[in-house]
This record gives sequence, structure tokens and C-alpha cells, in this order.
Amino acid sequence: MIQSLLPSQVCEIVQGFLLHGSQEQIINQIIVDSRNVVYPETTLFVALKGAKSDGHDFIEELYKKGVRHFLIRKGSGINIAGKEEGTFIACEDPLSGLQLLAAYQRQLYKNPVVGITGSNGKTIVKEWLGQILGQRFAVAKSPKSYNSQVGVPLSIFGIAQYHQVAVMEAGISKPAEMVKLANMIQASLGIFTNIGTAHEEGFSSQDEKLEEKTKLFEKSKFIVYRKDQVKSARYLEANFEAERLVSWSQEPGATYTLSVKKEIDKSKILLLKPDLSLFTFWVPFTDAASLENVRHAIVAALTLGMEAVEIQEGLDHLKAVDMRLTLKTGPNDSLVIDDTYNNDLAGLRLALDFMAAQRSKKRKVLFLSDMLQVGDAKTVYEEVAELINHHQIDYVFGVGKEIPVLKDKLSEGSVFYPDTESLLANLDQNQFDNDLILVTGARNFGFEKIVNSLQQRIHGTVLEINLNALTHNYNFYKTKLLPDTKVMVMVKAFAYGGGATEIANHLQQLKADYLAVAYTDEGVALREQGITLPIMVLNPMQESFVNLQKFDLEPVVYSPLFFLQLGKFCRNNRLSMKIHLDLDTGMHRLGFEENQVEDLLQLIKDYPELTIASLYTHLVGADEGAHQDYSLEQLELFIRMSAQITENLAYQPLRHALNSAGIIRYPEYQMEMVRLGIGLYGVEVNGKFDQALKPISTLKTTISQIKELKKGETVGYSRKGEMHENGKIATIAIGYADGYDRRFSNGKGIVLLNGHPVPVIGNVCMDMCMIDITGVEAKEGDEVTIYGPGISLKELAQRIGTIPYELLTNISSRVKRVYYLD
Ligand SMILES: *Cc1c(COP(=O)(O)O)cnc(C)c1O
Repeated sequence: MIQSLLPSQVCEIVQGFLLHGSQEQIINQIIVDSRNVVYPETTLFVALKGAKSDGHDFIEELYKKGVRHFLIRKGSGINIAGKEEGTFIACEDPLSGLQLLAAYQRQLYKNPVVGITGSNGKTIVKEWLGQILGQRFAVAKSPKSYNSQVGVPLSIFGIAQYHQVAVMEAGISKPAEMVKLANMIQASLGIFTNIGTAHEEGFSSQDEKLEEKTKLFEKSKFIVYRKDQVKSARYLEANFEAERLVSWSQEPGATYTLSVKKEIDKSKILLLKPDLSLFTFWVPFTDAASLENVRHAIVAALTLGMEAVEIQEGLDHLKAVDMRLTLKTGPNDSLVIDDTYNNDLAGLRLALDFMAAQRSKKRKVLFLSDMLQVGDAKTVYEEVAELINHHQIDYVFGVGKEIPVLKDKLSEGSVFYPDTESLLANLDQNQFDNDLILVTGARNFGFEKIVNSLQQRIHGTVLEINLNALTHNYNFYKTKLLPDTKVMVMVKAFAYGGGATEIANHLQQLKADYLAVAYTDEGVALREQGITLPIMVLNPMQESFVNLQKFDLEPVVYSPLFFLQLGKFCRNNRLSMKIHLDLDTGMHRLGFEENQVEDLLQLIKDYPELTIASLYTHLVGADEGAHQDYSLEQLELFIRMSAQITENLAYQPLRHALNSAGIIRYPEYQMEMVRLGIGLYGVEVNGKFDQALKPISTLKTTISQIKELKKGETVGYSRKGEMHENGKIATIAIGYADGYDRRFSNGKGIVLLNGHPVPVIGNVCMDMCMIDITGVEAKEGDEVTIYGPGISLKELAQRIGTIPYELLTNISSRVKRVYYLD
């Protein structure tokens, strides 16, 4: 909610002019995404041009929804006819306009604003600092990683006058961007997280990066940074007055000396203040990155006047940021969205948007606690009611003393309880059936108990899929491509083991252009779950022709015989179909060979029922330098064969040849489309950009039992595992039937237990296996990571002489998949 504006003010702020309409109506919201309309009459829509879409194309639709204010690009040619009640303001560049509006709104806000920048950790520092400050203040926090040229303005519009402090992050990818962010954020306290050594696109040197990033602090009263990061510390100390600098370090000489003592699953942070007073904080992790992030948050909280006890209280409840908004399987095919630690309005809005992006189910159900907002409760709940009705929630379970004020505003069937216990006592699992259930509540309501009771128990082994990492990897490959190159994503084989439906749904939101599956049935399953993207089927069988047609799937045609069969099928049934032609340039698997092109052209002429949507070929060794000559020959042959075909067509099919490895190695051959596979799932097979990708899946299981064994005793079938010393072993709940390869037997496999790599001992059994945990502290029920962050899939594959593809796709369907997103 912004401070109200009149169109005349908007004109002045954005340096634009009124193209048409009235100067009188009040504007209370500013949006850039046509899906986010809640209060149409008082909303200003800013039409931005993105990579994939242009906001100007949505004006018609928004006008129909009742939106009346539009900020558009000068000369965009928007037709006002039929939209006479609208107010249209034009300016040179609506994005700058949006940013100017944000800067204006920011000036009206008088409380402290924390601005965070640096190479890594910004989002986590922001989340954690927000959670800590929340112990005492009403905090406005930019959602997710809204840190960009568009994200920052939207975050600023989310700050309300009752917020006592705001926490924002600023991320840039090229020079000259920070000035714009700094003008909007006007950080009164700055945090510099760190400077990465990695080359960042758009910057020629680290110094240039530092100079640009620290522009965020131009107006800051205090700047928090790490003094033992020598390079950035020197830069800050040379360029900002000493009294503005608040440093921390493990070494003496900084404003705060913070040292760390690690235990198994927690760390003690000792803080020595300049007046020699000493404080101890406990945090629930031991890894270096989290420890750096949390120390930034602690020092910033102290600088903002928090007491040590309040800070510790906040630290006790830190949640790993990645775990926000988890999807879980609920009763009777329902899907539960777990958002149990955040319920300010911004959080609720995000969670409801996330809910809207899920596949539709029978009903939408919301569990909601009192809102922990400071400020005017009445306006807050009015907004909550509007949001709930806008999102067409079927019914609400309200918990708390205040929330019953919503009673009259919500649909019948909504029920209210004074506390979580009384709700739990009355909760009947069987009232849910194929529903989409969002559970969101303030931490002190303990809503995780509701999730626990709704969640289908997951015992033992789970595969966690991080959809943020998927987005990250997708965007990484996008940066390697020209803006207009289309991306087909290979979701064959259950999306490389990750679960085709959820991943396809996420790709649909990322606006991928095409999906590809191996068999018709896989495509049918996606359509039945509401996936609407075009889908190519690599290996359609004759008996599935009916389903191709029925489910709007596009088959690959790879031989003259197959062409003929499909052509006849279409003719007999009076249908037409889009097809894709596989050209064999050297794989020698499926596909038309060069000497079959003449026949192919005749077939194309004979069967106009079949439209050629694309032509493609597949490289046999895109990931290996040794095959470069062969790859280039394949690509050139493909271009020749394609030309020969398209010369004889009245239209231009898409052409595509590159898989993930090919995108990296031969980007000059991207043509109109590429086919992204394993890279999306976090493995860079060339080995060039291993660090740039994020693993999307973590395979985890738990310890069922621990045993002490004596030297010489053996473990498992055939007595293969022998104890060389007295020690202990743990039995974990994963075996070859889950997809844990039997070749990992006898020390070939390594798993991660409480941060320690430990080997498999003995043969892997069908449903379990044993690990040697001698010397590692652990207890029954502890979690064990089979692979994921900290234990690389590529290395594991190498240990048993296979490739990551096989490990990914081997995970059995009995292993539960859990998806999460922040
Ligand atoms: C599986 C597949 C891909 C994707 O390959 P990756 O190496 O996983 O990127 C591309 N094209 C075809 C024809 C495929 O079968």
C-alpha cells in the first residue's frame, strides 16, 4: 500500500504527460504484473517491457477487469477507443517512471531502511535480520529476492507507515545499475556481505564491482562490513568516513570481535564489544556461509539498538530461508503448502500467489492465524479479507483472538478457533479431498503442528527438489543464449527423476517455450495435470496415435515408414498434426539420413496433414573436446539437410541441435531453439561452470539403528564389510530398490552425516544399507544426505563408473518427492 497519489502527481514525478483521462481519482496501488490486481479502481498499472512479454499487451484485459490508471511508453500506440474512462499517462521509459515513483514513496518514509548488497548471502542476511528485528519492531522486508530494477520498487511500495524498520536488498549485474537502486532505497544503514572472486558478467575487475556496489551506501549513517575481508574493507575504509563504519572480524582491531566455536550441529558466537563487555549467541548451524551471514545480521541488529537477549530470541527461531513455502502431500490427494513462519501481509500475499500458481484442485482452503501487524488492525484485516476473496478461497480456518473480525467478510463454512490446540482437537483429515491447503501463521501459533497432522508421513527416504535452484539454472542457460532463442526443456524420464508434473508446472511459470517427453504416456500425464505448454514426444508408438491427437502432443517422426503411418492415420481420421523431424547426422540411433531427404520431401508433399513444427538433430559428444570436429561436422550437415528441406516448404520450421553441453560449447549454433536437459537439473557436464549451477535435488534418508561392533566383526550379506577396528555402524533406510546403486557397496559410496562424509560398509541391501560412522557423533533418527549440496552427484557417479544421468533417473518412484521454493 502506497501513500495515495493523484494522476497529476504521477505525471510530475515520472516527468510524463497526461495522454487521456481525469486528474482526480486517487491511486493507492502500483502493479506491474497483470495477475496482481486486487483493487482495480485505485490501481496504477505500469506497462513494462520484459524479455518475454510487454505490459502494453495486457492493458485491454486490465481495463476489462476495471483497472483505470496506466503508465505507458510514449508513442506506444495504445488505442484509447473503448477505454475512455481510463487515465493514460505517457513517459519516455515506464521503468524509470516506476523507479521515480519508488524514490518518491521512499522519501515519505521516515524510519530506518537497511540496504544490503554484496556478492553472496544478501537474501539470507535480509531474511534473518528481518526475523531478528521482528522480535521488537514491525518490519517491512522485501519479498524473496526482489532486489532488481523492478523488484526494488515493488518492495518499496510494500513499506507502510506503521513499519518501524524496512530491510531491502540490492542486486546488480552491470555497471550503472546501483545508482538507480540507491536512489530508491536510500539506505540509512548499509550492509556489505562480501565480495566474490568469481567473475561477474558486466564488470571488468573486482575494484569496479566494489566501486559500483558501495554506491548503495552514499547516504548511509552506518555501514556494516567484515574487516577480515581485506579487499572490501580497504576499499570502504578509504572511501567512507571512519565514524560511519561498523566492522566485525575474528581478529582484534574491528568495531566488534566475533569468534566462533563449533559443535556438532550448532555454533557459539562470542562477541566482544569495544567496552570489553562479552556476549554469547547460539546459532543452529556450523557452515561457514551461514555463520558469516548471521554475524552480519547480529551486528546490524546491535547497531539498530536491539538487546542481546532479544537477538538470541530471534536466533532461536531462524528458519533456513530456502525452506519457505514447502509443498507437501496431504490427506486424500490434497496438497499442503507449508508457510508456517511468516504472516505479515506481504508474506500472505506471496503465499497466496504461490497457491494460485499451483495446479488447480477441487477447493482452496486457508489456515490463517492472527496477523502480527503493528498499526491499524482494522485496515490490515480489511486487506486480508480482500486478498482472501480475490483469491477465491473456499473456506478459512482462522486461529486467534482478532481474526474472527473476518467472520462476516468470508464465505460460509469458514470456522474460527481461539488457539491452535482447539483447532487440532477438531480437525478431521477426511474433510479434505483433493484440496489445495495453505497453512500460514505467525510463529507463536505453532502452525507446524497443523502441517504435521495434515502431512502424509514421509518415512525414511525423500528427494527434495529446490525449485529456486531450478529457476537459477534455467536463467543461467538463458544468459548463454540470445534473447529470442527458444528453450525446449527435456522432462523425459520423470524429469530426470525429479518428478515431471511439478517441474513442468514450474517451467510453465518460467515461460519455457516447449517441453519434451520420451513417450506419449508421459505427455498424457502432463496434460491431465493441467500443463499447457507445447509438448514434443521423442518416441511415439503407433498404438498411441489416438492419444497424440486427443492430448495435443507433437510427435517426433524419424523414418519414412513412420511418416507414412502417421500420415495415413491423420488422413483416415481427417486430422492434421504438428510433427518434429529427427535428422540423423551421426548419432545413428533414430532419424532420417541424408540420402533419405528426397523421399522425405515427397512424403511431406503427399501428406499436407502433417505440419513440420521443427527439425532437429542430436550431438553425440557435445560434452567432450575430443569430439569437437565430429560435432562441427554434425552441425554443418544438419544445416545442409535442414536447408534442403525448408527450401521446399512454404513455411519455416524451428531448427535445434544443442543439448545442455552444446549450449555451453557451441552457442553459435543455437539456431531458433535449444534443448535443455541435465543442466537444468544442476549438472554441468562440460565441467566448465560447475560452480555456476545449483544442485536442484537432495536425496536424504534417516538412520534406523546404530550398533557398536568389535574389530573383526562383519556387516551385511556375504560378510563383505569387515570392521578393522572397534567402532560403530548405522543402518540407513535406503537400498538398491530405492535407486541407491548396488555398486556403492563396500566403501564405494560416501554419504554425508551431520556434515561428515562417511563410507558405506558391506553390500547395499534391497531396502537399506549400512555406513561406518566410527568417530562421528550421531543418533538414531538423524538425517543422512545421499547426494545434494555438499556431496556432488558427478563425483559419486565417477566412483562407480557411471554418469550423473543414470543416478538421477534411477531413483525409484517409491521415494517421496518434496518441492520447495522461497
Ligand atoms: C535427452 C535429450 C536431450 C537433453 O540432453 P542433456 O544432455 O540432458 O542436456 C536433448 N536432446 C535429445 C534428443 C534428448 O534425447
